Amino acid sequence: MRNDIYCSDLLEELKEQAIKASTFARVIPGSIAIGAAVLAKNNKIYKGCYYPGSTGYTTVHAEHAALINAVSNGATEILRLAIFANTETLKEPPIPCGSCLQAITDVVTNGNFEILSSCISSYPHWIVYSISDLLPIPWRHPNKINLFEDHSETK
Ligand SMILES: [Zn+2]
Repeated sequence: MRNDIYCSDLLEELKEQAIKASTFARVIPGSIAIGAAVLAKNNKIYKGCYYPGSTGYTTVHAEHAALINAVSNGATEILRLAIFANTETLKEPPIPCGSCLQAITDVVTNGNFEILSSCISSYPHWIVYSISDLLPIPWRHPNKINLFEDHSETK
């Protein structure tokens, strides 16, 4: 496969992996089975799923899980994110929460970064959001730290 974010094979695989990840989500009453997948510059796709903790602090959203999975496996740049809500209750594709949008902007340098979203009621249609549309003014660390850079030598 080409290292090209417009390669339709990669985009289709990204969508399929988000759907697959949604089948692994843990669902408790009131939660939604959401799966996410990120496409990294290395042409690899990393999945994450919703994982409800016993408290709100220990709950992990699918988008955040996919980002951490990518970083944990050595990805150095994220190109796109796909999310899928595996539920009949949503009538519109989901939008990542504010916390996940911030986490995404922490690792994405491209303001045109796109998020593809779908759910059972809208599938096979996917809505494409720009990260800059969803979070036009993200919070920035005062030292402008890029979380994908290697800071192991920093003291
Ligand atoms: Zn979230």
